[in-house]
Amino acid sequence: MLNLVLFGPPGAGKGTQAEFLIKSFGLDHLSTGDLLRSEFAAGTKLGLEAKSFMEKGELVPDSVVIGMIKSKLENSTGSKGFIFDGFPRTVDQAKALDDLLNENNTPISGMLSLEVDKQELINRLLNRGKDSGRADDQNQSIIENRINVYNEKTLPLIQYYKPQNKHFGIKGMGSVEDIAGRLKSVVEGL
Ligand code: ADP
Repeated sequence: MLNLVLFGPPGAGKGTQAEFLIKSFGLDHLSTGDLLRSEFAAGTKLGLEAKSFMEKGELVPDSVVIGMIKSKLENSTGSKGFIFDGFPRTVDQAKALDDLLNENNTPISGMLSLEVDKQELINRLLNRGKDSGRADDQNQSIIENRINVYNEKTLPLIQYYKPQNKHFGIKGMGSVEDIAGRLKSVVEGL
């Protein structure tokens, strides 16, 4: 099984690149952001609880997202592997993911970390906010908060995967196709 963590700050292009990786390697996509937004759209209790955090650009509590990933993994038998997109976002989430995957002897194969300049991130997110309707993409101070939360709570994950030789830094600037090509060659070498 090929299990990939697609990693990077908000606006790094994880969702866009996940689509290429799914096509190239036949993987299942697990995006916690998408899952949380569909919970909210369906009006579930979990979705309503998550919304208050997402609106402020804060992380949803670990227990909520870990529970969501656990049930998705339990319900996807026969998968060739997963792309984890936007998850893990804290060291506790990474440990919980390892525990879940170890139960099935299918560890993380690699963490692909997209590297993008801060100003480029802000521009991309504000542009996305114009037509996506995502409230968290329409306000510069919420965007800056998300980037700060990323730097403080999520970036340390690099130090979690590096000693396991699973961290791969990839330049996330340039054309979508060029970045997809860089990712593909890293994954082929795993
Ligand atoms: P982006 O990467 O552009 O921030 P996402 O769709 O991945 O977009 O996430 C949107 C929001 O959903 C985050 O700001 C956060 O509030 C919440 N969220 C998504 N994934 C997680 C996670 N793994 N842990 C905690 N909160 C999460």
